[in-house]
Amino acid sequence: WSIVCTSFLPVCELKAQQKTDAVIEKKVDALLKQMSLEEKVGQMAQVSIESLGNTKGNVFTFSDKMKDAVVNYKIGSILNTPGLQTAGDWNRIITEIHQAALQTRAKIPVLYGLDHIHGVNYVAGGTLFPQQIAQAATWNRQLVYNAGVITAYESRAAGVPWTFSPVLDLGTNPVWPRIWEGFGEDPYLTSELGVQFVKAVQEPLGNKEKLVVSLKHYMAYSDPKSGKDRTDAWIPEHYLREYHLPAFAAAIKANARNVMVNSALINGIPTHINKHILTGILKSELGFTGFIVTDWQDIENVYRRDKMTNNIKEAIALAINAGIDMSMIPYDYKAFCTDLIALVKEGKVSQARIDDAVRRILRVKYETGIFETPVTYVKDYPKFGSAEFEQAAYNTAAESITLLKNTNNVLPLRANAKVLVTGPNANSMRTLNGGWSYSWQGEKTDEYAAKYNTILEALQKKLGAGNIVYEQGVAYKMQGKYFEDSIVNIEAAVQAAANVDYVLLCIGENSYTETPGNTNDLSLSASQLALSSALIKTGKPVVVILNEGRPRIISSIEPGAAAIVDVFLPGNFGADALADVLTGVVNPSGKLPITYPRYTNDLAGYIHKPSEGSGNPQGGETAPQYPFGFGLSYTSFSYSKLTINKNNFDPAETATITVTVTNTGNKPGKEVVQLYITDLVASLTPDVKRLRGFEKVELQPGESKTVTFRISLKQLAFVGTDLKKHLEAGAFNIQAGTLQQVFTINKTLVF
Ligand code: BGC
Repeated sequence: WSIVCTSFLPVCELKAQQKTDAVIEKKVDALLKQMSLEEKVGQMAQVSIESLGNTKGNVFTFSDKMKDAVVNYKIGSILNTPGLQTAGDWNRIITEIHQAALQTRAKIPVLYGLDHIHGVNYVAGGTLFPQQIAQAATWNRQLVYNAGVITAYESRAAGVPWTFSPVLDLGTNPVWPRIWEGFGEDPYLTSELGVQFVKAVQEPLGNKEKLVVSLKHYMAYSDPKSGKDRTDAWIPEHYLREYHLPAFAAAIKANARNVMVNSALINGIPTHINKHILTGILKSELGFTGFIVTDWQDIENVYRRDKMTNNIKEAIALAINAGIDMSMIPYDYKAFCTDLIALVKEGKVSQARIDDAVRRILRVKYETGIFETPVTYVKDYPKFGSAEFEQAAYNTAAESITLLKNTNNVLPLRANAKVLVTGPNANSMRTLNGGWSYSWQGEKTDEYAAKYNTILEALQKKLGAGNIVYEQGVAYKMQGKYFEDSIVNIEAAVQAAANVDYVLLCIGENSYTETPGNTNDLSLSASQLALSSALIKTGKPVVVILNEGRPRIISSIEPGAAAIVDVFLPGNFGADALADVLTGVVNPSGKLPITYPRYTNDLAGYIHKPSEGSGNPQGGETAPQYPFGFGLSYTSFSYSKLTINKNNFDPAETATITVTVTNTGNKPGKEVVQLYITDLVASLTPDVKRLRGFEKVELQPGESKTVTFRISLKQLAFVGTDLKKHLEAGAFNIQAGTLQQVFTINKTLVF
């Protein structure tokens, strides 16, 4: 039995000219020719729905403002949500917008966009998946693909043809409050899973079950120096190209049709006015033929926040000339349209630039099929919210759960065990889902249907309510700074521990999204540390469940924990999946998509972190709490026969690397075979380690499988300070599991 990995992403290959369709290009040309300047600039504005009407309860109704925006100003797009809506209500809202669009001369449909981040999180009754960080922990391309297919189907059932997803920002700074929205810290893992998602959601665009994706947030948004949201990154261009660009390049090669821009600054320049990054790299070099949208109010930010211009009008000129095609939340769409028209008349923005922007927007509108089918209806999507889709969300959660410690096989729990369930995350759907769940901050706890289980409820069902004792111990604030917590009653939890076999300590974070989630300290909160230490002192086996968007520091409690399980943000079926892992129905197979730090001031990821004892001259090495790619199983695996088809290669060749993995334990299980290749000596200090392939395999006890990786050696090139790719002659180390091998490349190639 053997598996051949067939995906070879152009991780280093940046030229990815996107195709366009001749028939659509003709239609776009014809339409553009008829359009006035007013009609064109209208297409470039994207307005929020909340500003166009009123909500009473959950019922949203448009006011005259909608007609003014759509009919008079001919705006191209509307976004966001007036709160959680049923699919039927979304159908009604989008129908009304289209009826307004039909009153315009050109009758161009409005493209509706929404943040469907982990499934259709703004459509009541839709399927919520684990957040992206948890999807990445599955290391399973198929599961990410399935989530994309279902998200697209259910979004279209609601009538919404564009999602602001996936996030391809690398999770290189664990303090950053949006790390959970991405696929982790590794460029290859992010590229592979990002491409799966793009294909699943978008291909073939025009089909009534597909959507336009938005790649976010181009680029390096995730690596601010301060760790705070929307603050500046300082990254040399060869680093940008080596680490931050590949996932975007791969997704553009997979035909992603929209890109949203980094809200912050890179090297002192707001990304929204960086012509080199937007037009130079994205449109010219990568050949992106879709359209670029700003992030929220980000043209205004160039003026007000970044102090780069004397007024908004100048900021508009800079942004549009840099390559922005559509402005999300212009400070005021009427003024935006008026200013942009004036800029064209004054010769400060060329007519050609406007035509290019509008051509891109219209192209994507035609491709999406909204000219032919402007509105879709839930009645035509019978699988919306179905048990089949829920099963897919459960499957993803089950494979994302990552077992980090299991002293003396304390897990799975003994049958009929008595368990104390405790901690602020024990009885909360909100913490299981995190932000972007029924609302922006995920704080609407009453929106969760009764059928979804919290960890407490799932265990009561699984083990019998009589076997479960619950004490909250510590609680999150529900309002204001709701991610803060305080002690409720630690003593009661300690006393309850006396009468049980295990303590299930559910800790981590409350939901948050974007800037409100900024933190000054990655440590677990003082209240949660106090609860944890008190329970560890009881001497009962403490099973720690980490339910968190980013890795909170647990080094002081880790030694006392009998077992540790990270569920990240596993979604509506996360607790059911966890209960199945805890009871041994599911053998855990998640692996960390990030480096889990041990100390708050030691946050480097695996690519750059010298391993312990490697003799880093700065003496800075420490072991992380858990390394990237780590995760335990209830069975054991061994690696053998790491082979490479040659020892010495020409740089243009493809190497075939095989490795055999065997289930040496007594339970069926899944293992992620991870292939790392490291340049041993290079003219730019080489990465400490670098993931170049992975494959998840399922093995029965005693069974072996051989995994084959075909690696085009050009992928191993690094970006030099001259911004060219360098594949240098010399030795490279291959690592898979416990095995290593060296091969050489016989000559240097620069391309
Ligand atoms: C976020 C984006 C999001 C947009 C629209 C912004 O604040 O940064 O990720 O897509 O809002 O809701």
